[in-house]
Amino acid sequence: MKKIIVATSNENKMKEIRQIFADDMIEYVSLNDENLLNLLGVEIIENGTTFEENAIIKAKTISEHTNQIVLADDSGLEVDYMNKAPGVLSARFLGEDTPYSVKNNYIINELSSAKEEERSARFVCVIACVFPDGRVITTKGVIEGRIGYEEKGTNGFGYDPIFYLPERGCTTAQLAPEEKNKISHRGQALMAMREKLMKENIL
Ligand code: IMP
Repeated sequence: MKKIIVATSNENKMKEIRQIFADDMIEYVSLNDENLLNLLGVEIIENGTTFEENAIIKAKTISEHTNQIVLADDSGLEVDYMNKAPGVLSARFLGEDTPYSVKNNYIINELSSAKEEERSARFVCVIACVFPDGRVITTKGVIEGRIGYEEKGTNGFGYDPIFYLPERGCTTAQLAPEEKNKISHRGQALMAMREKLMKENIL
């Protein structure tokens, strides 16, 4: 079976990536699965200022050290009322190890005076694929929503419990995983990447 490395240690993202690419005869391995960061002795320095830059940094770092095709995801939440924060800093917002219940309630509080139409937010995801010859392909997905008034739902991860979809009347944490994958930023970016890789006969 062919293996493709996904340059992430985030098992929640890996779960969604495996669900979305499920029918391919390919094994997707994360950095954790192969203990790659330790084995290669590399550190990924995510110092880009855009989702594109960070996705490329992650995939390129691992591809350069393994000489293999590497996929990477960079994603996050943009809250308009907070000048698009936390954005590329979503994972590190208020501290990497801070529980998401704390991060989510902090955002809810920040928006305590925001009117309904000021609660707009979006999840953004960029998938980068880097080839051993250094060639780069990227795809992007965006899902628009609003910041809710309280955490709702237990599916998904991260900011899902406060990301409310008005047209569905629920948060992305209240959607079944396959429903979230059909419409999510990551689902859209991954499906677009899948098509590009199929055209290149990689999948
Ligand atoms: P990254 O590892 O730098 O790409 O960080 C992405 C961060 O954005 C995650 O750790 C979450 O905090 C947030 N995020 C990205 N996608 C989602 C999602 O689908 N649901 C909830 N939070 C997400």
